[in-house]
Amino acid sequence: MRALRLLHWGKPARLMDVPAPVAQDGEVLIRVRAAGLCHSDIHVLDSGPATFPFEPPFTLGHEIAGEVVDAPGDSTLVGSMVVVYAPWGCGTCQRCRSGALNYCDRSGTSGIAGLGLGTDGGLAEFVTVEASRIIDIGDLDPLDAVPLTDAGLTSWHALGQAGHRLADGGAALVIGIGGLGHLAVQLLRAVTPAVVVTVDARVEALDLARQSGAHHIVDANSAHLRKDLLELSPAGYDVVLDMVGAQTTLDLAREVLRTNAHLSIVGSAGGALRLAKPGVLPGLQVSLPFWGTRGDLVDVVSMAGRGLVRPQVVRYALDNYAEALDDLRHGRVRGRAALVP
Ligand SMILES: [Zn+2]
Ligand SMILES: [Zn+2]
Repeated sequence: MRALRLLHWGKPARLMDVPAPVAQDGEVLIRVRAAGLCHSDIHVLDSGPATFPFEPPFTLGHEIAGEVVDAPGDSTLVGSMVVVYAPWGCGTCQRCRSGALNYCDRSGTSGIAGLGLGTDGGLAEFVTVEASRIIDIGDLDPLDAVPLTDAGLTSWHALGQAGHRLADGGAALVIGIGGLGHLAVQLLRAVTPAVVVTVDARVEALDLARQSGAHHIVDANSAHLRKDLLELSPAGYDVVLDMVGAQTTLDLAREVLRTNAHLSIVGSAGGALRLAKPGVLPGLQVSLPFWGTRGDLVDVVSMAGRGLVRPQVVRYALDNYAEALDDLRHGRVRGRAALVP
């Protein structure tokens, strides 16, 4: 089968022929129908050794949707259309037992961060996964469902940590409207009464934000961006979801937060937030969400099934992976890029 593999740090990914995997007891074999591309894939491809707690070679792809075609332990699963919960976890620590593999106590010690991140993922024709990782998507199209597994899951998990600040309304700001940001806007609209404001530097991204239900869109290129944002919510923002995490976006977030607010740093672009007391806003709560729990993914799939979340997906053939990576790298993907083997 064909698989998109990282063989060495700092080298381009290679689409190559490898033997198809075989499901062992307790696993399922999935014929991949779609695999999402994520900024963290770009980060992995651009990094050198010792950046991540895992090593090549492995097949990329941590957003996976497809059809179960073999299930040695439970033949009733064959034929199901599923998405995959991909974070690695030891399975036995307290965090894992509670379903939060994303916060496994032994993360960083295993040499694997998730499927497609240290072990073979879904950018291939087939992948085997533990049966406990699959979630049935019913009538959802796998291409539409695949971004739920990271972009949707991570946004939902971030909102789970911050959303209580919006129970009575207030204002939420989403910085960066890409694969995650547009789903964060939809989720905010679906479950909170908050006014949702978005900021991005790209015209298409602002258009996607509006289509996703944002009440207000603000151009990040504005010469008085902070003022533009505070005009929309003079007291500041109760929740800021920074989907970028760069120094410029964190600085902006800090300037527009309200007192007793929540800053969720979702993106990993390397910005730093200095926390000193006094000096930061009173009551500020900060979270650094990573992926989400299995239960969060069940929630997001259920919401998609009810039409409350609709990922915007740009489809590429697996053979055109280089074009997809290039588009993602240069901010040309409207929503989430997904590759179809
Ligand atoms: Zn990702
Ligand atoms: Zn664990």
